[in-house]
Amino acid sequence: MTKQVKLGPYTLILNRETLEIFKKYRQLKKRDKEAGGILMGQVRDQHIYINRASLPSSFDKATRHSFQRNKKIAQLLINYEFWNSGKTITYLGEWHTHPEPKPAPSPTDIKMISSQLKENDLQYPYVIQCIIGVEQVYLKLLSPENQYEKNVNFNDTPNCND
Ligand SMILES: [Zn+2]
Repeated sequence: MTKQVKLGPYTLILNRETLEIFKKYRQLKKRDKEAGGILMGQVRDQHIYINRASLPSSFDKATRHSFQRNKKIAQLLINYEFWNSGKTITYLGEWHTHPEPKPAPSPTDIKMISSQLKENDLQYPYVIQCIIGVEQVYLKLLSPENQYEKNVNFNDTPNCND
């Protein structure tokens, strides 16, 4: 079971493991804190395969309304996946949760993803941001020239083109 989402000229394909992680960390209870991690995967032409979402670590800083991942841990993961996949799995972006049904990026989220685009040594000229709400997932693809964004429901039929 995968989920495909069209973002401008790109098709984002989220694999089952990634979707399960997103669902698992949704902030369904009042006391659940934000959670997040990085997104990794492969790119073939305009198809972006998100195959790995890293799990939150105890080194992250999380509250009900904020999330800051630990940079060193993320870098270790990126290096590990890259070398263990024969350099095919690379960093593609970021995910975190929001305690709202229909998630929208905060000013901090907007700043964070554009600094990821500028500061990272990226394999591809864009980054992906996923914000996991209670009912929907917000997806953004940001490149230096464009940004494409979309909210999709968790319960959409799998494999449909959104
Ligand atoms: Zn946020």
